[in-house]
Amino acid sequence: MTLRLLALLWVFIAGSWAPGPLVTPASAAKTAPVALDCGAMPCAKIMPAASQFRPVAGARHWEGLDEDGDVVGWVALSTDFVDLKAYSGKPLVTLVGLDPDGIITGAHVVHHSEPILLVGIPEKALTDFVDAYAGKRALQRIVVGRADKPDVESVDGISGATVTALVQNITVLDTARSLGTSLGVFTASAVTPGHFVEDPEPWTFQQMLERGALGHLVVTHADLGMDEAADPYVDLYFGIADPSHVGRSLLGEHSYKHYKGQLAENEHLFVVFNRGSGSFKGSAFVRGGIFDRVRIQQGLREITFRDTDYWNMPDIAAEDAPEMNEGALFVLRGGRFDPGSPYDLVFLGSRYDHRGAFTRDFREFTATHQLPATLYVVDRTTNGIPWRQAWRNRRIDAAIFAVYLLLVAGVFVARQYTFVNLKRLGRLHMASMIFAFLVVGVYMGAQPSVTQIFTAVGSAVHEWRWDLFLSEPLIFIAWLFIGIVSLTWGRGVFCHWVCPYGAMNELAFKVSQQLGFKRYELPSRIHLKLRYLRYVVLAVLVGVFLWDSILAERMAEVEPFKSTFLVPIWTRQWGFIAWWLLLLALSFTMYRPFCRYLCPMGGGIALLSSFRPFGPKRRAFCSPCEICTRGCEYKAFRQDGTIDPRECFSCMECEVTYNDEQTCPPLIGLAMLEDRTDLSPRDQRKISRLRIDVADA
Ligand code: SF4
Ligand code: SF4
Repeated sequence: MTLRLLALLWVFIAGSWAPGPLVTPASAAKTAPVALDCGAMPCAKIMPAASQFRPVAGARHWEGLDEDGDVVGWVALSTDFVDLKAYSGKPLVTLVGLDPDGIITGAHVVHHSEPILLVGIPEKALTDFVDAYAGKRALQRIVVGRADKPDVESVDGISGATVTALVQNITVLDTARSLGTSLGVFTASAVTPGHFVEDPEPWTFQQMLERGALGHLVVTHADLGMDEAADPYVDLYFGIADPSHVGRSLLGEHSYKHYKGQLAENEHLFVVFNRGSGSFKGSAFVRGGIFDRVRIQQGLREITFRDTDYWNMPDIAAEDAPEMNEGALFVLRGGRFDPGSPYDLVFLGSRYDHRGAFTRDFREFTATHQLPATLYVVDRTTNGIPWRQAWRNRRIDAAIFAVYLLLVAGVFVARQYTFVNLKRLGRLHMASMIFAFLVVGVYMGAQPSVTQIFTAVGSAVHEWRWDLFLSEPLIFIAWLFIGIVSLTWGRGVFCHWVCPYGAMNELAFKVSQQLGFKRYELPSRIHLKLRYLRYVVLAVLVGVFLWDSILAERMAEVEPFKSTFLVPIWTRQWGFIAWWLLLLALSFTMYRPFCRYLCPMGGGIALLSSFRPFGPKRRAFCSPCEICTRGCEYKAFRQDGTIDPRECFSCMECEVTYNDEQTCPPLIGLAMLEDRTDLSPRDQRKISRLRIDVADA
């Protein structure tokens, strides 16, 4: 059974992971299309899983449907999402497909005006280039040429058409990401609210360096395969020139005022100066084109420099600045640059070969920079901070959820009144399960998951960021509750009483029993081994997360929570639907099989329960009595009659029995002894011992 479940898990992952087939190249259309039309465009080629396509009212994309009418993805035209022009000064109009798991199903250039591809380089070079995106994750960082970071994937450029390849790369990725963000497949990263700090005194060049106003990137001749020279190939100083004490020092009083005055809201001045002997501008750009050697990478945003937003700046104005060989002022438009977050300046260099010529072997060099707090202050009081906004938006749900959790905790605090008879306990539990499933799960979508354990592990390894946790108010409250109750009474206060998926499983089981379905239980020896599987699943998931976080997120779909509460099940891939149905079917015949054997999150919080001080009450004379042991649905009793806190789900039925003088045999025996009038000294001693045991507990 263990092996079968593992195999199923991996088949399911592998099945969902398979990339789509490559799309067939097609020649460019004669005229630029103005609107997406799958009747006239090869949508089926870039999304083979779809057998039909239909427009979505009011949206810029079309839906792809399989033969059963289920949505398998969406297609969009790049020009509806990205304003990016290539070498010709015109966009590469590209059809891009995306599936619900954020995978690019294919891309196809439906129109371009690139002169180099219309005469010269074969059309196939471009179609081969875009074919390579089929099956890639849209959130993966992909660069043209060799990357200098391990988590960045490289694609080969188009020999002789570097600018076209660069623009095509950004066009496909930005379209897929924008489409995914508009559909909720990805979460949009907002610009950090804040403001620039002004200093009345212009900073000297030295002060700008010391205070972190400028970033610095050096690429030597040797880095590009040339003989080493006295000067580096490029020696770049770069940064934002918006604050007046920086802008005036870099550009001079007059130029700063002139260009600053032209900025619209959310636009910024960005400078690059070079002391190296090579050039960061290159010579290949044309009017309306983009600079192919430098660009900004910020998170998933690729920000290119356009010739139309460029002014030549031969030198830095500050008197103490060294002489520069070239410089540029760019305007960053479109509100895409976030001054409150780190960014990379990327220099794309081509290698020099032994015959003394640049080859088409590209390599990226990056320098990370972030504006210091003395230049840009992140506004922590503003209403725009995403997690505060999230709390404000969900304040009513958060209040209802918090009250519900306090009531559940109250049931445990007042246990001497609540856990005294099975009828009252059953009603309380049923009410809690119905609320958990319908309100917490279906309505609020507040199902915690192992992915939050990933977030905690990631934060612990890299940087602890409370805002990551706070951005999901209900999930934050749920984990606060889980932490407190698991360390106090054990994991079951959440798992048995509050978990929406657990509640759904138990309700399904109860319905099946009412309908007379046969109950199935694993043999004890298999159960005892299989209960460790959840720890294996947890360890594998966390291990994979440390290696490849996106893969781990996909593997975390072993939890069917997303299909149950977050994404309509009918929009999911067949693999997820089959997995969800299988688990539901199992829970009709077995008592909460997913919770007992597979749930990685349950495994994580079971480990926390190891330290609980207030489990179900037990007495010394409980051990030989098997009533509770046999009645425990979760098989949490060890052979010696004690309770394994990691297996106990705090259903508290054993505590009801413990309190019940009509059911607990030793209590019945004690009452019977006490009723007798002919007590021998041995009976007297027995009564005293039993009373001590009862009083001790
Ligand atoms: S084991 Fe997992 S699914 Fe089951 S109740 Fe606990 S958290 Fe929920
Ligand atoms: S019956 Fe089992 S699961 Fe329920 S409280 Fe007792 S030991 Fe825990």
